Amino acid sequence: MTLETIKARIADAEHEAGRASGSVRLVAISKKQPNDRVAAVLEEGHRCFGENRVQEAAGKWPEFRERFDGIDLHLVGPLQTNKARQALELFQAIHSVDRPKLAKTLARLAQEEGHCPDLFIQVNTGEEEQKAGILPGGADGFIAECRALDLPVQGLMCIPPVDEEASLHFALLARIAERNGLTGLSMGMSGDFEKAISFGATHVRVGSAIFGERTG
Ligand SMILES: *Cc1c(COP(=O)(O)O)cnc(C)c1O
Repeated sequence: MTLETIKARIADAEHEAGRASGSVRLVAISKKQPNDRVAAVLEEGHRCFGENRVQEAAGKWPEFRERFDGIDLHLVGPLQTNKARQALELFQAIHSVDRPKLAKTLARLAQEEGHCPDLFIQVNTGEEEQKAGILPGGADGFIAECRALDLPVQGLMCIPPVDEEASLHFALLARIAERNGLTGLSMGMSGDFEKAISFGATHVRVGSAIFGERTG
């Protein structure tokens, strides 16, 4: 599929859900994609991208930034505290704040550097052992903790379990955000972004549907 097709589908889903047009941001997930595919999407004028690894992003984005203005880069994968400073330099948003230690590190670095990316707290809505994220039961407390650290929390993020109905997870994430006064919802990927939009997603993370299957 092309970028244009995905953008049109997002616009349709916004309309269907009775939401303002342009209220959903498309984060094009470029992890493990060949540089020529990413460059092609940049050439088409898209500027908001997501990566899941700091190392990989650090390897490819400085060069794209020399060629294209206004790139808005988001980290959507797990962040180790020893890479947090590098992440602060590279990314305009981090979708994967998932534990107190990372929150404290980001708060300290934000103080030192004088800026902080927009932050999303990842919630492990499916309570899956192998998945990162704060458990739903701990979300309110963790959100409060991040706010007490003066972190710019914009919203919540989730990755639903592959074998469950995603709607339940989107609805749960939206409820947690709502009761905490958060407006940002990072949810929905290639297979379910329209559904996520119907549940209030403000950021959809779409990779393979734009770029094709990942290499490597
Ligand atoms: C890879 C990835 C995506 C995109 O997945 P697709 O199915 O290719 O759209 C979205 N979110 C996260 C956190 C990812 O790691």
